[in-house]
Amino acid sequence: MNFIDTHCHLLFSNYDDDREEVLKKVNKELDLFIEIGGDLDNSKKVVEFVKNQPKAFGSVGIHPSDSEGVDNKDLEELEKLAQSEKIVAVGETGLDFYWETNKQTQYKIFDAQVSIAKKLNKPIVLHIRDAYNEAYEFLKKSNLPSKLGVVHCFSDTWETAKKFLDLGFYIGIDGPITYSKNSELRKVVQQAPLDRILPETDSPFLPPVPFRGKRNMPVYVKYIYEKIAEIKNIDIEELKKQMYFNARTLFF
Ligand SMILES: [Zn+2]
Repeated sequence: MNFIDTHCHLLFSNYDDDREEVLKKVNKELDLFIEIGGDLDNSKKVVEFVKNQPKAFGSVGIHPSDSEGVDNKDLEELEKLAQSEKIVAVGETGLDFYWETNKQTQYKIFDAQVSIAKKLNKPIVLHIRDAYNEAYEFLKKSNLPSKLGVVHCFSDTWETAKKFLDLGFYIGIDGPITYSKNSELRKVVQQAPLDRILPETDSPFLPPVPFRGKRNMPVYVKYIYEKIAEIKNIDIEELKKQMYFNARTLFF
């Protein structure tokens, strides 16, 4: 059993110069990875990419910061893409109020993607930034897919994490778990049940210690595993089995 990365963006231009090399390492050290779509064009590429990658699965979606200008035709196209081979989720989608953009548009495009996931019985990959309460209130009254989904790159308090766990969501844990100042996130991992945590890198973003300031890579997920194993006081081999089981349960 090996490591897995349930959230990365290897199709972003950050890997244009050495994607083949990066993939070689990924195929050697990981059992599976999930390539996440950021907008419609990127999602189309994800669909093609995962077909030829033995260890890859994909998710298609439109990031909240890219909601502006998305029309019904785009959403119909997204729904078609979501039915492609090896596409296991819808997202990343959600609310991002860090950058001041049109909140109503974000809600509308988020809602449409939740409906697609519900219709196709796939989980959603949530991107939430500076909008945990709003996203929670919205999801609580939405008609959600039975598999719900994952709060990608969770970064709020244990109280907030508990609310999403109680709804039935998984909690995605990324590189920030290794940052020395991030005791709140370590508290989240300590309190959350091990069968509701998912390891993810969000590569090329958010590299763990000791790679801060550099480009992130899926193989660095092992530093996230090490931190989770330390907090949960369990053996890394045991953790590998559990994380693989969690991913299978949610995505397959
Ligand atoms: Zn992402």
